Amino acid sequence: MKITSPRFVEPISAAKIVLFLVLLLFLPFVLSSPSDLSSAKGLDAVNGPKIIVLNYHKIDNMNISLSVRPDDFDKQMKYLKDNGFNCITPHDLYEAFEEGAELPEKPFIITFDDGYDDNYKNAYPILKKYGFKGTIFVITSFLDRGQQGYITWGQAAEMEASGVMNIESHTVTHGSMTELSDAEIRHELVDSKKDIEQRLGKKVEFVAYPTGTYNLHIASLVREAGYLGAFTIKYGNVDRASNIYAIERIPIFHTEDTYSSFLERLQYIPIFERLGWIKS
Ligand SMILES: [Zn+2]
Repeated sequence: MKITSPRFVEPISAAKIVLFLVLLLFLPFVLSSPSDLSSAKGLDAVNGPKIIVLNYHKIDNMNISLSVRPDDFDKQMKYLKDNGFNCITPHDLYEAFEEGAELPEKPFIITFDDGYDDNYKNAYPILKKYGFKGTIFVITSFLDRGQQGYITWGQAAEMEASGVMNIESHTVTHGSMTELSDAEIRHELVDSKKDIEQRLGKKVEFVAYPTGTYNLHIASLVREAGYLGAFTIKYGNVDRASNIYAIERIPIFHTEDTYSSFLERLQYIPIFERLGWIKS
């Protein structure tokens, strides 16, 4: 006999109602935004150029949200290429915001968190094809012990030497830093930086906060460890109002229609900012 539980239905209905209310709230902004979409790509009179920082994890055909398919990734890169977006590096962003260097029009940055081996197999050739440069934030203890599913030090060295990928830190163990002591945070920051610098013969200048968690005290420890900046998973564009130790990003996921979701995410940011979202 089949038993249907009404209790199981209730939370889903509640979620739908919430979604409907959120859509209602956003509708006036969406309808009135065509002229504002240009602000996502252009200049803000006060805060200067807006930089889009894309955040990916895996680039492969697993059917999970963290895995953007290689053909979808290729299509997204083609969109950026065809629409006059200019790929810059985290160091370019630092020079522009901290030293007043010029930025190209419609600047964007490509980042990958965790250092999955599909970044080497799938993302690296696609970036090479479009002449773009990406940044991979690696978890150094994973590379040290040859953790399966992640890039090796050899692959990291090859990508770094090619000039196509820039290897930066995602700490030693990927522990959420808001749960660690100061001594542990310093170890995560300092030792991952040293490890990459010694293995790859480069200067490590940026870190991505594992799981995105941080606070201003942690940001001060990042600066103390010698980093020029740090990336969060806060949703939004980057401009001169941004904190270089809490840089916003736009997460790109696999969805039912990954390409449309990608285009929406590039364009919805002004709406978030107009809803009173404040950079900190
Ligand atoms: Zn991560």
